[in-house]
Amino acid sequence: MMNKVYLGIDIGGTAAKFGLVDEDSNILHRDEFSVSFDGYETPILKTVLEKTEYFVASGGLSFRDISGIGVSATGQIDSVNGEVIGSAGHIKNWVGSKIKESFEKKYSIKTIVINDANSAALGEKWIGAGKGYKDIVAVTIGTGVGGGIIVDDRILLGKKGLAGEIGHIVIHGSGESCSCGNTGCLEKYASTTALVRKVSALQKENPSAFPKEFEENLNGRKIFDALKGNSLLEKAVDNWVDDISLGIISLVHIFNPELVIIGGGVSGRKEFIEALSKRVNEKIMPRFLEGLEIVPAKLGNDAGLIGAIYYLIENK
Ligand SMILES: [Zn+2]
Repeated sequence: MMNKVYLGIDIGGTAAKFGLVDEDSNILHRDEFSVSFDGYETPILKTVLEKTEYFVASGGLSFRDISGIGVSATGQIDSVNGEVIGSAGHIKNWVGSKIKESFEKKYSIKTIVINDANSAALGEKWIGAGKGYKDIVAVTIGTGVGGGIIVDDRILLGKKGLAGEIGHIVIHGSGESCSCGNTGCLEKYASTTALVRKVSALQKENPSAFPKEFEENLNGRKIFDALKGNSLLEKAVDNWVDDISLGIISLVHIFNPELVIIGGGVSGRKEFIEALSKRVNEKIMPRFLEGLEIVPAKLGNDAGLIGAIYYLIENK
C-alpha cells in the first residue's frame, strides 16, 4: 500500500512554500509562489488557495490522495480555529484570514494551522537537530527573533496558539520602541536586522574602520566574514551575542530544556554558536547547565513545512 501523503504549506510574508510530504517526512514534490506580488492587494489566503489546486495537480495527485493539510503561517495564529488573529508586522489583508475554515470548505480535507516559528521547532524535533529530545527551546534569529518551546514532547501553544513569541521578551526596559507597542524587546537587539543596523550606524561614524562593501546590502554573512581582527566589529558582534544570550538565559531558567536550537542564517557560523554558548554558560545557574546543549538548526527553510506535517500527524 502506498504511504500516506500530506500537503504542507509554509506561508511567509513574501512567499508560500508547498510540499507533498509522506509520513516519513520525505518531500515528494515541492514548489514556491510569491504572495506579495501586488503588495498584498490580492489577499495571501486567496493566492494560496488558488496555488494549492495548481500545486496538487502538478504533483500528479488529486485531492482524494491527500490525507491532511498542515499549514505553517506567519503572524499570530489561533491554532484552535486555524485563523490569523494578529500580526506584529504590517501585512495587508492578512489578519482575519480563516485558513482552516477556507481549506476545509474548499477541499473537504482536515487542515491544521500553526504559527511558523512553532512549526519550525516541531520540524527540527521530528527530523532535525531536535530529533530524540523532549524538552527544547528553538530560537530563530533573522529579520526578527522567533521561537518555539517544546515541553515533554509537545509544542507549547498556550490558550490560543500564540505562545513562544520570544522576540518580545523585554531585555532593556526603557530601550528601543518595538512594532508590538512595547520598548526594549529582544528582537530589537538580537535579530540579524538589529546587528546590521548597529554596524551601519558605526560605519557612518567611522567609515575607514569597515570594509567598503559594507555600504551596500550589508548582511550577517558579510559581517562575520570581516570579523576577525576588526576590533570595532568584534565589539558590536560581542554586544549582539550578549543580548541574544539574555533572552536564552531567561528561557533556560523558565523551561529547563535539554536542548537549545538556534536557527537563521548566522546559526551556520561555528564561531557564533561557540561565543553564544560561552556567554550563556557564564551567566546561567549551574544546575541548568547539566546536560544542556546549544546547537544550530538543521532543516533551514524546510523546517516550517515539515513541522506543520508533524503537528498534523500528531494531532490526528
Ligand atoms: Zn516587541
